[in-house]
Amino acid sequence: MSYKIAVLKGDGIGPDVVDCTISVLNKVAAENGTVFEYTEGLIGGIAIDETGVPLPGRTIEICKKSDAVLLGAVGGAVGGSKWDNPDGNLRPEAGLLGIRKELNLFANLRPAVIYTALKDASPLKPSIVGDGIDILVVRELTGGIYFGEKFHNDEYAYDQMKYSVDEVDRITRVAFEAAMKRSKKVTSVEKANVLDVSRLWRKVVLEVAKDYPEVELEHMYVDNAAMQLIKDPHQFDVIVTGNMFGDILSDEAAMITGSIGMLASASLSEGTMGLYEPVHGSAPDIAGRDIANPIATILSAAMMLKYSLNMPEAADSIEAAVNKVLDEGYRTADIASDGDKIVGTVHMGELIKKYL
Ligand code: NAD
Repeated sequence: MSYKIAVLKGDGIGPDVVDCTISVLNKVAAENGTVFEYTEGLIGGIAIDETGVPLPGRTIEICKKSDAVLLGAVGGAVGGSKWDNPDGNLRPEAGLLGIRKELNLFANLRPAVIYTALKDASPLKPSIVGDGIDILVVRELTGGIYFGEKFHNDEYAYDQMKYSVDEVDRITRVAFEAAMKRSKKVTSVEKANVLDVSRLWRKVVLEVAKDYPEVELEHMYVDNAAMQLIKDPHQFDVIVTGNMFGDILSDEAAMITGSIGMLASASLSEGTMGLYEPVHGSAPDIAGRDIANPIATILSAAMMLKYSLNMPEAADSIEAAVNKVLDEGYRTADIASDGDKIVGTVHMGELIKKYL
């Protein structure tokens, strides 16, 4: 088999972590008799420098012709970058929003995993973390209040929260399909005691659930979900929710892991197209110094193998290799504590390849 992968390294540590990830993917390809064809495209600040815009047409074209997109990060130093611009359309982040829109990426998948070896990094009590936590937040990304009708004048303002049956149906199916490959539980989060849009959401979720009789379904109000994530995160397997609630809950779930350099994400379109990127930003403070943690991007590539390239065993083998490297005490500086063996970006990649 041969797959086309669009590679958008972006800014800051983007090139560091993406180069390292590609070296891991090359080993995966060799071991599976698969060919990955990479085509690089510009996005973010570097695209502004070279073409004047954060998302050149050629990048969109490369992505649309590919089976999946692997992205590093975009942006310069917070509060003092040469790309700061009063015109939001000419800032690096506009490249990200643009590519999500161009590829119609309606489902955002953010795993929040606490590895046994890193459980001390969690801000939660050890008695709550136990041996680790593994939650997948599935957030609707192209509808809801962020994209509803907006209005403001000097006296008042509003943003409309709107979901259609089709929009809820397709995101719910993504969540149930993911649950089938995990622990077979879906928690649908909304505010059906107050919002009409949430009552429609719940009705559609109940309909979709009929197609997945093996999956346990639970409904939870968003305010309770925010509390339960901290109180007893083990009760969750897959959380499915709308755009704004998902924005907040995915960050909350991420932070209970305590390790920004470990968090992967996938944004999926209809079919198998997806964009895969670490949750962290471009970390300009450590760019180009071979100290960035590449694991978030390597785990994002594992999600790419699972969701876009139909290589779930290869994805599992990457996750197992990451676990093994952590169990052996190897850490990049951001996740290291006393007694750990500190390694750089490239060395971390080499270790993960060794244990594949
Ligand atoms: P950041 O995630 O880039 O960095 C926050 C802190 O975490 C920094 O101290 C950084 O050194 C550290 N860090 C992040 N990733 C790391 C890694 N892989 N290994 C080791 N340490 C890591 O967030 P920020 O500083 O708020 O933003 C910097 C730039 O990134 C801004 O321009 C911002 O707009 C952009 N940003 C981009 C994305 C994206 O591309 N998806 C996401 C968030 C922020």
